[in-house]
Amino acid sequence: LSERLGSVFDRLRKRGALSEADVATAMREVRVALLEADVALPVVKQFVDKVRERAVGREVLRSVTPGQMVVKIVHDELVDMLGSDSQSISLNAPAPVPILMVGLQGGGKTTTTAKIARRLKDRERKKVLMASLDVTRPAAREQLRILGEQVGVATLPIVQGETPVAIAKRAMTAGKLQGFDVVMLDTAGRTSIDEGLMAEARAVRDAVNPHEVLLVADALTGQDAVTTATNFHERVGITGIVLTRVDGDSRGGAALSMRGVTGMPIKMLGVGEKVDDLEDFHPERLAGRILGMGDVVSLVEKAAETIDAEEAQKTAERMMRGTFTLDDMAAQLKQVRQLGGLGGIMGMLPGIGKLKKQMAGANIDEGMLKRQEAIISSMTRAERRNPKILNASRRKRIAAGSGTQVQDVNKVLKQHQDMARMMKQVGKMGGKGALAGLFG
Ligand code: GDP
Ligand code: MG
Repeated sequence: LSERLGSVFDRLRKRGALSEADVATAMREVRVALLEADVALPVVKQFVDKVRERAVGREVLRSVTPGQMVVKIVHDELVDMLGSDSQSISLNAPAPVPILMVGLQGGGKTTTTAKIARRLKDRERKKVLMASLDVTRPAAREQLRILGEQVGVATLPIVQGETPVAIAKRAMTAGKLQGFDVVMLDTAGRTSIDEGLMAEARAVRDAVNPHEVLLVADALTGQDAVTTATNFHERVGITGIVLTRVDGDSRGGAALSMRGVTGMPIKMLGVGEKVDDLEDFHPERLAGRILGMGDVVSLVEKAAETIDAEEAQKTAERMMRGTFTLDDMAAQLKQVRQLGGLGGIMGMLPGIGKLKKQMAGANIDEGMLKRQEAIISSMTRAERRNPKILNASRRKRIAAGSGTQVQDVNKVLKQHQDMARMMKQVGKMGGKGALAGLFG
């Protein structure tokens, strides 16, 4: 998916303006990409329609860099759909607060129960009791007991021959009598959904009326995640989702699907086998992961700083005519700074080696580039257009205005002259080809 979306956006980025047809084409590809990431079809459809609606029209079509706007819209909608606020587990109920953990076998319920209990104990100073209702596998209750010892959380003593409902009731009673704040109930799972599993979960739910019913689901289950989430939500009713194995080669598509079909928030992420491998859910991060772009927001911000194609074109044309103004120089300094130093634009200019060396000799750093920009922006428009009028008193005023010295102002003016001369030569020698290569 990452590569796929990456290539879609690359293509968009290279375009000047984005038409409705362009958006439609891009959205078709986004649709395929999401499907390939195992996002469920109805969810994909809903998502793509929403993005298309927002993308076609004002925001994208008027934007100077349409591709970046599409990236931002896709990202924002993804965040929106995943839930724009990270929602934590609610304990806003009379103690002991019952929390029911449901899900398929092997999804990570028992591990996650211990992880959450540990977190509630350490971070919120809650007294937590854990109970395993898994009577199908002999080792299951023992597993929770061992985890409890490991994280320093109490577990309900094991009594043989009890039904899950009986264990749940006993846990609640113990929780009340012994002053626990939270009682976490870890249920049994099956390898696939069956009526027995659902009936059991419902019976426990009816017996203890849990404040939270958390569906624990493996991020790697892909399309199955949708079936699982739909079934548990329709037949038991969930209040939130914990996605596990997000540390693995997870596609993230499961989160989008489960959130989409249930409307219930993703509350936590399991990111490893260890008891402290639990993270709060941040929609932006997961959106970035689904898009495969790391931090898309920072990408968009960076994009806003990149060279504006139109502006560069205008500069190129002015250079060809041999008029290189101080405004052009300021724009170039800014670009050089944004490109991370002189290795950028300057380095690409043919015949500019000498100037580059000169500037490097002057020990160019970001601070210096900023000072030079400040000097130029302290000039009046008339001065920028016609530097010849810059007499001593004007230079003094500019130095004061930019917090620099008169000799700094002189240096900038000298540099501008050098650059203007160089640009003129480039214009003559290279012609349009060279410049197109430079600014294209
Ligand atoms: P349950 O059957 O739903 O109770 O699942 P378990 O809690 O027993 O977990 C099954 C396996 O998945 C165990 O080996 C866990 O260590 C592992 N596991 C659980 N959560 C995660 C996770 O977030 N990341 C990874 N890598 N493994 C996990
Ligand atoms: Mg278990």
